[in-house]
Amino acid sequence: MAQALCVVVRYRKAVTYGVHALLAALETAGVEHELRLGTTPEESAGHIAATGADRVLTLWSFYSPDAEAMAAELAAVRSLSGGRGLHIAGGVHATAEPQQVIDAGWDLAGIGEGESTIISLVRALQRDEPLTSVPGLAVKDADGVALRTRPAPQLPLDAFPSFAGRNGPIEITRGCRYTCRFCQTPFMFGGQFRHRSVASVRAHVREMAGRGMRDVRFITPTSLSYGSPGPDPDLDAVEELLAGVEEELPPHGRIFFGSFPSEVRPEHVTVEAMRLLKRYVANDNLIIGAQSGSDRVLAASGRGHDTSPVRDAVRIAAEHGFRPNVDFIFGMPGESQEDQEQSLRLAADLADLGARIHTHTFMPLPGTPWRDAEPAFIPLSTMSELDRLAQRGDAYGHWRKQAEHAARLAETAKAYPRRTRRRRAT
Ligand code: SF4
Repeated sequence: MAQALCVVVRYRKAVTYGVHALLAALETAGVEHELRLGTTPEESAGHIAATGADRVLTLWSFYSPDAEAMAAELAAVRSLSGGRGLHIAGGVHATAEPQQVIDAGWDLAGIGEGESTIISLVRALQRDEPLTSVPGLAVKDADGVALRTRPAPQLPLDAFPSFAGRNGPIEITRGCRYTCRFCQTPFMFGGQFRHRSVASVRAHVREMAGRGMRDVRFITPTSLSYGSPGPDPDLDAVEELLAGVEEELPPHGRIFFGSFPSEVRPEHVTVEAMRLLKRYVANDNLIIGAQSGSDRVLAASGRGHDTSPVRDAVRIAAEHGFRPNVDFIFGMPGESQEDQEQSLRLAADLADLGARIHTHTFMPLPGTPWRDAEPAFIPLSTMSELDRLAQRGDAYGHWRKQAEHAARLAETAKAYPRRTRRRRAT
């Protein structure tokens, strides 16, 4: 007989998009389960303790900088709920560092895209089947080693909706064909674009409009790559998407494209692309990834562009009425003081052209080619210049906090050398 199962989600604002996709997958697959959302550790523990279901599965998802804090929360939730149920961590950190996640106290790590894994996992728990039969997991063996099950498939994006019965940004593209060495996206979702069809996007918009939602936003690694398999934008495909969305919008509905929570690559910002966006979108800003003012650092980071398109992108975006918000990362591996000065000079020039600089500090993120790379030293002179830009209102960002995260991540990377203790469940 099937066991009644309660899924408790440790529901945090930082990870709602991914969690909504998992819950939508369960709903789409028609998997019976009780669902409870815990917005605090105490509420999560209360749900775990209170459910009358036979089994409880608690879902956690977090980014690498939050891993330590989440492990502390997990210990608190376990203690408050009397140690009941199974706890699984998913997302990019768990995918990259399953052994670390298991050592930190989770029973299971979800590896890779979670939709098909969560469906199989819930079914296996209901049927009392071995968890080693579930794809996309790391399970703890008797010695505490994280054993990997077979990989979960990377399915076409249309296989599951971005969300069900809720509103949110629609994921239009997953995976990324670029290979920026600091970025977790290609590692997590693969090195090719998978685009959601226009029909599927329209269906999402229709549903949201039916619930009274007026604004539509998108999740994509690079907005103007929609519909394209390669580096060149396919503006016809972008227009088909935007026109289709517009047709589904209610009166006074608005489209936000190329702004939060997505961005555009600088070489994609052309006059043609901006004219197209102006016909459809309501955003007054564009997020543009520049990352460095040093061609040497850009080449080393595998960005696939140098500094030359960045100035043009900012100028063209501004001329078409978009405020460019331009991302920079300081402290990339091998970056010299001269490289940082070039970045600061470019940032100041872009600010003069009307841009706001979004400053980041390099973090050696798990799963990336630069996981074990040493962040470059950021001297006081660079910090003062970043502060000066911020005081003028030309820059914003949490680069100081990220520098603290970077130091912690580097420590953890040393404790877990890459590709050790990696075994497959049989
Ligand atoms: S930084 Fe952007 S373009 Fe580069 S790999 Fe990541 S998602 Fe792709």
